[in-house]
Amino acid sequence: MRYFSLNNREHTSTFENAVLKGLAPDKGLYFPEKIVSLPKSFFKDINGFSKTDLAFQVIKNYVGDEIPASELTKIIAHTLDFEFPVVPLKENVGVLELFHGPTMAFKDVGARFMAGSLGYFINKGNVGKVTVLVATSGDTGGAVANGFLGVEGIDVVILYPKGKVSEIQEKQLTTLGQNVIALEVDGAFDECQDMVKQAFLDEEIQMQRQLTSANSINVARWLPQMFYYFIAYQQLAEIDKKLVFSVPSGNFGNICAGMLASKMGLPIDHFVASSNANDVVGRYLNSEIYEPKPSVATISNAMDVGNPSNFIRIMELFDKDFKVLKDHLSSYSFSDDLTKKAMKDVFEETGYVMDPHGAVGYLGLQEFLKKHLDYYGTFLETAHPVKFLETVESVIGSKLEIPPTINAILNKQKKSIGIKDYTDLKAYLLS
Ligand SMILES: *Cc1c(COP(=O)(O)O)cnc(C)c1O
Repeated sequence: MRYFSLNNREHTSTFENAVLKGLAPDKGLYFPEKIVSLPKSFFKDINGFSKTDLAFQVIKNYVGDEIPASELTKIIAHTLDFEFPVVPLKENVGVLELFHGPTMAFKDVGARFMAGSLGYFINKGNVGKVTVLVATSGDTGGAVANGFLGVEGIDVVILYPKGKVSEIQEKQLTTLGQNVIALEVDGAFDECQDMVKQAFLDEEIQMQRQLTSANSINVARWLPQMFYYFIAYQQLAEIDKKLVFSVPSGNFGNICAGMLASKMGLPIDHFVASSNANDVVGRYLNSEIYEPKPSVATISNAMDVGNPSNFIRIMELFDKDFKVLKDHLSSYSFSDDLTKKAMKDVFEETGYVMDPHGAVGYLGLQEFLKKHLDYYGTFLETAHPVKFLETVESVIGSKLEIPPTINAILNKQKKSIGIKDYTDLKAYLLS
């Protein structure tokens, strides 16, 4: 499969190059040249597939012959090595839990698949040693670090803002060891991100190190997110209502993968992009005016995105046809107060604990179902509530049980290197 740049269709790339480079040279996002439809029979027999076989059928055409089937199967089996249950919450509502991976965030799937693909290309010898350089405000860094841990030929360098990530998040970044180095930056997240951008433009560094970014626009992080929707559908196939999925959205990579899955034939009738106060897409769907704004801070902070990078891919999926897009996508936005109230109400009604991101997804689904009684709705729970311990415990007024994987990390020794500015980062990367 070839990929073209959304800035210029003439510029195309292999899967391998798209994975290694992330963005096209003209800074466009890569998009597959062809969307492969799966036959009706595939969906009729979907329960006959194991998770790995299902995912292999879904992604094989997007990888093509660039990774042999046996290797691709191994990468997928490792990527999906945990559960993706749809838990019934109440009548016509289920929760797709995506937090059973090693860092308890849905980004584990994309990070692992990208690490496996890149690791394969390096191992094959086409590509020299690679340094994955990322800035994190919390969750992404942990999933990326964990995904790339121990992959030969890859060094991971993570920048995080000192004192601005939670204790659990910091331990997830700083206790891995091996090929993962955590740089603790005396500054805010924006400064970490600026330093990373500067490094990518620095020729002296480029001469010594092959840098790649592992951020969410990389096709190898974006595409495997389709797996969630296919695996969920296996569990919902018996339901004889229309299906709607509500996705807590920030950069819109996850929901865009779901919409791609439905373009391939997966019978999902509608999507809801649920957002916090950062509601650029909701405003667009109401006004047809796309107007990014600086992000504002909320309790669902992984969705604090003012200009979602993947929305352009959704537009491409719908040939930029606003009316058709509106038939398939709704978007609602919720304040922190409403989010907290939903967490509390659901806990009191059902005993189920939602994290702030999942709660936004729940609210979006409720809003849609109010007017669409012929649907069964699923919302995505994108992180384990324990990752937002303080908020969750104070809202529901009850203590959470800390899972053993988190407890084990909390007892490990933090290892980081303190840096102040770009000069320090550059010195580190050239050392
Ligand atoms: C990244 C993230 C999101 C947003 O996902 P996008 O693909 O960027 O829309 C939602 N919830 C959590 C917990 C996340 O880490």
